[in-house]
Amino acid sequence: MSYEEKRKNLVNNLVKRGILSKKKVINAMLKVPRHEFVPANAVSSAYSDSPLSIGLSQTISAPHMNAMMCEYLELKEGDKVLEIGTGSGYHAALCAELIAPENASNPGHVYTIERHEELAERAKINISRAGYEDIITVIHGDGTLGYEKEAPYNKILVTAASPEKVPPAFKNQLKDKGILCIPAGSKGYGQTLYVVRKEGNVFETERKTGVRFVPLIGKHGFST
Ligand code: SAH
Repeated sequence: MSYEEKRKNLVNNLVKRGILSKKKVINAMLKVPRHEFVPANAVSSAYSDSPLSIGLSQTISAPHMNAMMCEYLELKEGDKVLEIGTGSGYHAALCAELIAPENASNPGHVYTIERHEELAERAKINISRAGYEDIITVIHGDGTLGYEKEAPYNKILVTAASPEKVPPAFKNQLKDKGILCIPAGSKGYGQTLYVVRKEGNVFETERKTGVRFVPLIGKHGFST
C-alpha cells in the first residue's frame, strides 16, 4: 500500500471515530506526509494511530491528538501561530497547511520552539523535506517563556504537559480573541487538555479530555 493510501485510511478512520470533522483539517491531514517526520526505523508505523519515539525520550503524538488539537485551535488562513515543543515538526507542518494553504493570498506563519537542539535541527530537515520551510520558523530555546519577539499570536499550541499553573507568557502573548490549546496537570498521569480563549482581559477555560504528554521542562515548567 502506498503512503498516500495509508494516510487516507488513517484519516477515514479518524473521521469514522468522530475525531475529525472539519473539512480543512481533514484535507491538511491527507496532505502532510507524516512518514517524512518519523525516524527511519519507524516509517512503517507512520500511519498507525499511535505515538512514536523520536529519540531523546521524546515522542511524536498519535495522529488523533494532532487532529483534535488542530480542530480546537480553529486554525485559519493568515493566523500567526506559536507552537511549544517542535519535536519532529509534524504538528507544525499540519498547522502550516491550515494557515498558509496552497495559493493563499494572506499566508500566516508558524513559530515553533524546541528545547533539545538535536531535535530542533532534525525538525528543520523534516520540514524542508516536506516543503514547509518558508512557513515554519524553528527556534531552539525554552518555550516556557513563549517567544516575545513575534508576539502576539492568534493561536498558541503546547505539545508538552505544563504544570497546572500555566506559564504566564502563553496568555500574555495571545492576541485578543486568540486560542491557546494546552495539556496541563502532573508530570506523568493525570493531565487534562484545555482550550483557553482570550476575550479582552477575560480568559475562558474549557476542559476537553484526559491526555498523556511528555513534560514541559523549563523556567516556568517542570524541572528536569
Ligand atoms: N509537536 C511534536 C511532538 C512534541 S513532543 C511533533 O509534532 O512531533 C514534546 C516536545 O516538547 C519534545 O520534543 C520536548 O523536547 C519539547 N519540550 C519540552 N519542554 C520544552 C520547552 N520548555 N521548550 C521547548 N520545547 C520543549
